[in-house]
Amino acid sequence: MKYISEFREHKLALQLANAIAQTVNPERQYRLMEFCGGHTHAIFRYGIQDLMPDNVEFIHGPGCPVCVLPTGRIDNAIQLAEQHGVILCTYADLMRVPATGRHSLLKAKANGGDIRMVYSTQDALKIARDNPARQVVFFAIGFETTTPPTAVIIRQAQAERLGNFSVFCNHVLTPAAMQAILDVPRPAASAHAPPLLIDAFLGPSHVSTVIGSQPYERFAEQYAKPIVIAGFEPLDVMQSALMLIRQLNEGRHEVENEYRRAVTPQGNLKAQALMREVFELRPYFEWRGLGLIADSALTLKADYADFDAEQRFSLPAIQAADTKGCECPAILRGVKKPQDCKLLGTVCTPENPMGSCMVSSEGACAAYWSYRRNSL
Ligand code: SF4
Repeated sequence: MKYISEFREHKLALQLANAIAQTVNPERQYRLMEFCGGHTHAIFRYGIQDLMPDNVEFIHGPGCPVCVLPTGRIDNAIQLAEQHGVILCTYADLMRVPATGRHSLLKAKANGGDIRMVYSTQDALKIARDNPARQVVFFAIGFETTTPPTAVIIRQAQAERLGNFSVFCNHVLTPAAMQAILDVPRPAASAHAPPLLIDAFLGPSHVSTVIGSQPYERFAEQYAKPIVIAGFEPLDVMQSALMLIRQLNEGRHEVENEYRRAVTPQGNLKAQALMREVFELRPYFEWRGLGLIADSALTLKADYADFDAEQRFSLPAIQAADTKGCECPAILRGVKKPQDCKLLGTVCTPENPMGSCMVSSEGACAAYWSYRRNSL
């Protein structure tokens, strides 16, 4: 298939692996954080870590939107269904994320809550049109990739005067997360464990089609970290790793774009304008693992406040604890890995997830379980 098979070519993968082996300096470590869950899955699925020399390590990042949503926001969504009696429209991944007290949207649905899985924002809008006597809320999550479609349905709802439709907005921003990751204190090396430092980033691919490559330039400059915008196919990831290794060897810290077939420096200006029209920055938003981050998420502007579910249903801010023993917060900060969690594969499996990283198809624990569980 064009644009897929050529980026999974076995021979080219071996050539790239050889080029990386020839390029690395055996005297140093290369710790590369892949920002997106899509990269994490490509690394596990195609065994890319096994093709790297021992001194090249991938560190999983916070770029899984379901994973970074804190428990309190899941509690809020359950409140909408159970206490306010709305039709709650959500993507499937969110259904099984543990909420407070081992509750979940799936259990709330089993208890009679009207919670419906949708495949697109337009599905949610249609449910609102088809049920004029019911309040319908779309549980909106995601980074900049999924924000423009939410903006579209909010504008449509306003144009159609759909008084029974609103959005529970949880859209978050990638540059703020990268800033937070760069500011995370890193544990020092111990006799048992090396330090989990980050030398460079494989930058987001889908997000960057919207925001472009320019927003990362200040991080490369300020923190002296090379960043390569990387596609999701295995050869994309390997080529990007090679580009990062070359930058590190040469003492450069620039933003380079491996994913030129989709990403431009400026990004999608139309989508950005749409987001600016409908949304504005929240002063603070809580992220699982990263805590409260200023200017890191979006809320509806005053012109669209009638479609803001938080205002319509006076949702409270809930600070909720994560499941005891779950290492998702540390994994999302890049300071631990799935195999560091004692619950992995014992009490925590995809059938019985204890944390968001095991639920989402982009989660690091789900990737580890799918492709590496035989090494547990
Ligand atoms: S294996 Fe389960 S409990 Fe452990 S960090 Fe991952 S999601 Fe959390």
